[in-house]
Amino acid sequence: MSALRSPIVVAGAGPAGSLLAIYLARQGHEVTIYERRSDLRATDVDVGRSINLALATRGIVPLVEIGAIGRVDEITIPMRGRMIHADNDSTPALQPYGSHPHEVIHSVSRSDLNAILLDEAEATGRVRIEFERRLEAVDFETSTLTFHDGSSEPFGVVFGCDGAGSPVRKAIEAAGSCTSHTEWLDHDYKELTLRPGADGTHRLDPNALHIWPRGELMLIALANPGGDFTVTLFAPKAVFADLADATSVDAFFTDEFPDFAAMVPDLTDQFANNPTGALGTLRTDGWSHNDQAIVIGDAAHAIVPFHGQGMNAAMESARALAAHLASTPDDVAGAFRRFETDRRPDTDAIARMALDNYIEMRSGVVDPDYVAQRTLALELERRHPTLLSPRYNMVMFSTMPYAEALRRAARQSEIIADALADPDLDVDSLVRTLPPLPELDPLADPEALSVS
Ligand SMILES: Cc1cc2nc3c(=O)[nH]c(=O)nc-3n(C[C@H](O)[C@H](O)[C@H](O)COP(=O)(O)OP(=O)(O)OC[C@H]3O[C@@H](n4cnc5c(N)ncnc54)[C@H](O)[C@@H]3O)c2cc1C
Repeated sequence: MSALRSPIVVAGAGPAGSLLAIYLARQGHEVTIYERRSDLRATDVDVGRSINLALATRGIVPLVEIGAIGRVDEITIPMRGRMIHADNDSTPALQPYGSHPHEVIHSVSRSDLNAILLDEAEATGRVRIEFERRLEAVDFETSTLTFHDGSSEPFGVVFGCDGAGSPVRKAIEAAGSCTSHTEWLDHDYKELTLRPGADGTHRLDPNALHIWPRGELMLIALANPGGDFTVTLFAPKAVFADLADATSVDAFFTDEFPDFAAMVPDLTDQFANNPTGALGTLRTDGWSHNDQAIVIGDAAHAIVPFHGQGMNAAMESARALAAHLASTPDDVAGAFRRFETDRRPDTDAIARMALDNYIEMRSGVVDPDYVAQRTLALELERRHPTLLSPRYNMVMFSTMPYAEALRRAARQSEIIADALADPDLDVDSLVRTLPPLPELDPLADPEALSVS
């Protein structure tokens, strides 16, 4: 058994890496982060994917804990529900996320949030960040890290927060402590920008997550503080393959999303110039190697983005790993193993729910059966707030383990399906058979971020 050995290294300064470094610093450790990109606070750095993302309770809790929530509040836009652009003729309609005012999710710029975490990490006085240092290899025999330029650095322990393509995970795999594979989705995505109107304001309601559900594909839009929206097309690869020239792109958007197409005069240029991204679920078994290395965040459990939970889960993992290390500081290898044993059922559960949510977003939201189930779930939550909460809400607005949310949701769905099939059923009695919902984390302050 041993304590964390120096030098303590974090590979990757994304949400998981910068947050984990803050927790380690708060436990008294000196930490060096090596980050592949240049400092996004100083230069306009391409953050790779999704310009903005949805922040929810599991990401908010650590931000409250490290004292950064006030700064984050200044850069978030609350979204109180899904604005469904059901077809080309009807008026968009809001499906609220919950029945309580605080049940909103928050649109945030990936790089602005990351910048706050980098500032907070440096403010601890114990975290040094070296940018433009792309890790290439980890040698566990000699405890040496090698970088893209051939330079090397010693390490005692390395935390791999280096994203889905993690070199740290590859080293753990090469050492025989991990196996992994990625299940690629047959759908890709592309981001577009809906610029502000002539008066500089948002051209759609900024306080909603807009969805144009079209069965096999969908468009979504999240507002940015500058008046623009980041809009993402998710569609089968075969659809992208057909959109090979401006004429087909123009025809596709005019046909499927005419209201959107009419607002974006340079749509075909944007489509041609912006990259198309792939989507996948990373399955891993074995997150650590002895007391020398562990992967967290996307490096261990990357998921598809349809529940808006990848970053939230990565931040929750950083907090959970820090808690394991704090509880057994002299048994790092044991803390690593216990963290994986505790956490993997949850990351497996959110991986599954994220895949399910794609179908819900691109077709469920306009399916009368789905709408009836969701309406009844919200009504039952109103009648039995300590016993039942819709699955989406357990994932987004609570810190209950994801695996528990998945289990509870399965039982709730049965009750709701039975009640919809038989109007005479005493649904309240069935709900009373459910075990009480767990207490909210004390740090899950519903007023931590502005909700309007
Ligand atoms: C289209 C899309 C939309 C999304 N929307 C949401 C959302 O709404 N809500 C949500 O919670 N999640 C969302 N996600 C998921 C989210 O982006 C990730 O889960 C999250 O960024 C994971 O954080 P991380 O720190 O583990 O990894 P990353 O964010 O990937 O950070 C890894 C860091 O490591 C650095 N790095 C990589 N390789 C090396 C190397 N060799 N050496 C040194 N540094 C390295 C990278 O530059 C980066 O800074 C979305 C993802 C996509 C693709």
